[in-house]
This record gives sequence, structure tokens and C-alpha cells, in this order.
Amino acid sequence: MRKLTLAAAILSTTALGAPVAAEGPMLISDQPLDLTIHFHWARQQGYDESFAVEQAAREMTNIYLRDATAGKNTTDLAEAQNLLLAQGDLPDIVGGGRIKDFVNQYGPEGAFVPLNDLVREHAPHIQAFWDSHPGLMEAISSYDGNYYYIPYLPDGKFGRAWYIRQDWLDKLGLEQPQNVEEYHAVLTAFRDQDPNGNGLKDEIPFFARQWEEVIRLVTLWDGRSSGSDTYHDFYVNDDGQVVHPYAQENYRIGISNIAQWYAEGLIDPEIFTRGSSARDYLLSENLGGATHDWFASTSGYNAALAGTVEGFNFIPFLPPASVSGVRMEEHRRIPIKPDGWAISYQNDHVVETIKYFDFWFTEEGRLLSNFGVEGQTWDMVDGEPIYKPEVLNSDQAVNSQMYAVGAQLPRGYWQDYRYEWQWTSEAAREGIELYDANDLLIPDFLGVSFNQDEQTVYDKYWPSIQTYMLERQQAWILGTGNVDADWADYLATLDSMGYSQVIEVMNSAYARQYGG
Ligand code: CA
Repeated sequence: MRKLTLAAAILSTTALGAPVAAEGPMLISDQPLDLTIHFHWARQQGYDESFAVEQAAREMTNIYLRDATAGKNTTDLAEAQNLLLAQGDLPDIVGGGRIKDFVNQYGPEGAFVPLNDLVREHAPHIQAFWDSHPGLMEAISSYDGNYYYIPYLPDGKFGRAWYIRQDWLDKLGLEQPQNVEEYHAVLTAFRDQDPNGNGLKDEIPFFARQWEEVIRLVTLWDGRSSGSDTYHDFYVNDDGQVVHPYAQENYRIGISNIAQWYAEGLIDPEIFTRGSSARDYLLSENLGGATHDWFASTSGYNAALAGTVEGFNFIPFLPPASVSGVRMEEHRRIPIKPDGWAISYQNDHVVETIKYFDFWFTEEGRLLSNFGVEGQTWDMVDGEPIYKPEVLNSDQAVNSQMYAVGAQLPRGYWQDYRYEWQWTSEAAREGIELYDANDLLIPDFLGVSFNQDEQTVYDKYWPSIQTYMLERQQAWILGTGNVDADWADYLATLDSMGYSQVIEVMNSAYARQYGG
């Protein structure tokens, strides 16, 4: 009975003259079919069968997910995965946070079902996604050439932006800096000309919550700080080779200049130690002048500080052009997450399961996974899913409200940026549109899957190499070493530590995975 009522409700709220009925049933099974699931991620350990989204998905598909999560008493994803393996019995579906490496290791050994053929034959919406987003299927594939999970696919392009105190620029009669020389001049003016007006030389021209953002400044000298949204990552150079940014000539030039800026007092003297409260503290105390940080949260300070810092106006501006004239926003949202879900070898309903995974890529499934249940958290208005006012105006963040009903979970799903745009502030929207109108983004390095031999080489050498790189990097910026004087020795040390062996396995894995 409940089913009929709900189906009727879905029809009536979707549209008059309903296209939903015409599109045909999405029922995957004639009878309700239970599938057990391990679902463990940072915010939730376990799959809540009472989620409104789960209830709606049951009505639509006849697939009933049954929670069988291991490690519910730990928030450690790897520990939960180990517990899952140790119990010996795998549920039908294994999903949640950071499952990529897990399934890519144990998939080829038989624990998970390869999805390539299954998707091609039974999951047309997922296959259409791969076909229209070249390179992403390769990016999640294991070393045997198969892929073993359907990922959480984020939407939206921009994450971080370059921010500056526009009111300080106005007060000093300065324009937004358009290139690295002008940026240097503006930061120098912030240091010298008392833009906060207290008579003290107390301004911190450039600051960052994450110290790694100071390394990002190497892009102003055509260096790189990372190839992805993970700090210190490898990247693919113009010759199609995987290299590490911290072994490149332009990185040396960039660090040399950043050290100079640091010595001049243009960079927060506590950049390596101030930590995550830096933005909050330096903005609310009217001390910080410029940073590189997330659009949505950074734009929130204009409203938050309107009553306490007179004239406060912290806005995104275009990345200053580098010494060679390139404007680059090195950070972007990664198009594919290591989160999602996989089918275990013990699953007796593999075809139904892949059809169920495909459901979440249909229009109905995308709306459900992104916005929750229509009529409960959102309504269709002029063909757009619009959150109800009580969702947008709630004290609780929209994403938290979504997690509570089972939407925006890291299942295998394709995020819809309209979800976030609706609660992005006007200032951030303007900034995003400014960035979007300029060609600022560069391709992400999406990682490689090592075979066992490659993994052994990487594990043997890389951790200590990276530690050494970061230790030298910090010393050079703080002035306890000189990058130009040390550079030849530094490269020689990297080589003696196994840098070229690591680069070799990175490139062999990369060539196998991407056909490079
Ligand atoms: Ca001052």
C-alpha cells in the first residue's frame, strides 16, 4: 500500500501530464531485492536504511540496501576496510570513502568484480558518462586494466581563488595587480603604507591557512607546486612525462623569489606555524591583505565582518600573470574521487547491482542523490531543482542537511553543481564567473595504479624523498639555506635517494594506464 501511495506522490509532484510514467519503470527487480552494503566514510560509519533517499530509491528500483558495515566504531577508513577483510565475508556492495586503492589492490586478486563489460552491457548511463569524459575511466583503473568501482564524481570547476583586500587597494589608490611585478608592488604597499590605518606597521601582506599555499606562489614564476588537488603531487609536463614539481628549474626560480618576498616581510612570518586559524584571525583583526583560499568560505567574510571591520571588502581577483605572462589557477576541483562503491565477488545479483548503480546516473537518480526527495527538500521550478526555503534558510549547512537524508553521500554518483550554487554567496558567484570567463585551469594529474613491483619501488624511496624535499623547501623560504647555492647538491641528493627510480615507475604505470 505504502508503495502505491508513494509512487502516486512522486507522479503528482513531478509534473502534470507526467513524463515520468512514459519513461518506463525503473524497477530493477520484480520483487524487492535485498543487497547488503558496507558503507563507511568520514562523516558516517554505516548505511542508514531509514534515509529518505533510500526509501525513495527502494520505491523506484525495488532494490533494498541492507546495512552490513564493518568497523562502525572507528572513523578510520583503512581500519574499517581491514576489519571488513578480516571478517572473511564480503557484503554485496562495498562503498564509502577512499575505496579506490583498496579495490584496485584486491580487485585483481578476485575480491571485487571488474566492471568494464558489466557497465557496457547493463549500465548505459554510466557508460555515457565515461564516453563523454575521456580519461576518467582510465584514471580509476587498476594495473590489470580493469576498473572495480563506480566513483563519486564531483561537479563544478573552481575551488580556490586569489583574494585581496579591495578596500585596502582603494584606500591606497592602487589597482588590482595584473602580474607578478604589480603583485609584489601591492604587497609592498600593504606592508609600508598602513592600509588598516592604526599607525602601526603590523599588516601581513600575504597569509594562508595552509602553508602549502605559499609554495603555490611558484606558479608566478612558471613553476608548479602540485599536479592535483593534493599538495605536493606529481604532474604531467609538456612532454607528456610524469615528473615532480620540486625537481624542476622553474621551481628553483620560484622558491628563490618566495624566499626574497619572505625576507622582505611580504609573507606571514608565521606562515609555517600559524595554521588553520590564520584566515579567521588575520581578517577579523584587520591585518591580512591577500591569500589563496576557497571561493565559498572566503567570500563569507564580507558579511561576517561587515559590522566589525569598517569597509572590509575581501574579494577574488584574477591570478597575476607569471613572468612569462601566464595566468594560472593551479587548484581546481578534482573530477573524480577515490570514493564510491564496488561489487564484491560474493554478490549473487551482479547484473541487478550494476543496473542499480546505473539508476543513480539517470536523471531521477541524480536528482535524488544530489537534492534528496522531491517535495521534501526541493521542488522542480521551471525545470530546475530548487531547494525549499526552509533548507536554504536553515541554521544547518545545506550539505549537512543532505547527508542527514542520504543525499550527497560518497556513493557512486555524479554530483550536480546546481546543488552548491544555490547556497553560494553573491560575491563568490561573481568571482567564479570572473574565473570562468578566463582560461585559467590546467589539467589535473589523476594518479596511477601501480603493479606490485612498481608499488615496492615507490614505497621504498618516495616517503623519504618527499620528507627531504619539504624540509629543504621550508629552510630555503625561511632563509636557513639558499636554493640557488644548494640546487646542484639538492638534485644530486634526490638522485641518490632514488628519485629517478620513482619517476621510472610513475611513468611505466602512467603509460600502461593512459596509453601515454
Ligand atoms: Ca597598520
